[in-house]
Amino acid sequence: MSTFDEIYKKIEEYPTIILHRHTSPDPDALGSQAGLARSLKKKFPAKKILCAGENDEGDLVWINHMDPVTKADYQGALVITTDTGNTARIANKLYDCGDFLIKIDHHPDVEPYAEMSYVDDAAPAASQIVADFLYAENLPVDKAVAYPLYAGIVGDTGRFMYPETTEHTFNVVAKLTATGINITEIARNISDVTFEQAKLQASVMEYMQVDPSGAAYAILTQKTLHKLGVNSEQASCTVSSPGRIKDVIAWNVFVEKEDGTFRVHYRSKGPVINELAAKHDGGGHALASGANAADMAEVKQIFAELVEVTKKYNEDHE
Ligand code: AMP
Repeated sequence: MSTFDEIYKKIEEYPTIILHRHTSPDPDALGSQAGLARSLKKKFPAKKILCAGENDEGDLVWINHMDPVTKADYQGALVITTDTGNTARIANKLYDCGDFLIKIDHHPDVEPYAEMSYVDDAAPAASQIVADFLYAENLPVDKAVAYPLYAGIVGDTGRFMYPETTEHTFNVVAKLTATGINITEIARNISDVTFEQAKLQASVMEYMQVDPSGAAYAILTQKTLHKLGVNSEQASCTVSSPGRIKDVIAWNVFVEKEDGTFRVHYRSKGPVINELAAKHDGGGHALASGANAADMAEVKQIFAELVEVTKKYNEDHE
């Protein structure tokens, strides 16, 4: 793993720096990318600093807008990915047309794809690592920089609820808050849902199946999504809902895509689920992962595996 100083030296070297993050972005993907880009733009006004994606920000455009990029921009450029553990999930495949690649991430380093990397899978958010980097290297952190970083940390810590949240997280957000950002506005932007999304959350609660082990699942079909006028990205607002039930320990939310396959969300309060996700074209964190299922048979198999892991967890924690 490289040090912050080594990464900073690379940044100093290159006239063009292009920042990438993962597809289907969440607040941490967009926030870590935007926070780093905005700070570097302030520090190095003569450099060309671009944020690349695939027009997939959806309802999260309030965090950041992408820049148009062409292959020519990558000539002699430094490319930095944030919050992206594997190449398959890097949004915009031009990322490998640059001169040098750096990865800054908090997912387990299952695919060390970059020439230089800073990966800390104990960090609750990539945005926290970016904030640490900016403070360590005395780079500018004003309101415009702090805003997306704070959003990323709020998003990936589940509003400071998940176990990776530490005293250090609060020290970082204290400094970000001191810039004068509107933390109420950020929290509302992350938490508020449309009436239709609230109805979808209600249908997850209504149709969720809970196994005696404490493993639970809900399936959101295209029919349900169409009826409510909610797209599959917006359906992500339902993913944490099952965890509010005391008896639920680990759960899957399956969201049917237009082609009939399923995006799979795994969440857990204890059983490790990223190894299960890895078996189904996915991965992620120990307690929050994502994957893909080709059909209902794979959906059933995925949930059966979750039940097994949850039972084993219960036995080990009796
Ligand atoms: P999600 O359920 O989509 O909110 O994702 C939960 C976590 O798993 C996030 O940290 C994602 O970056 C990660 N993740 C989601 N889908 C995948 C995938 N197909 N491959 C690897 N990691 C994933």
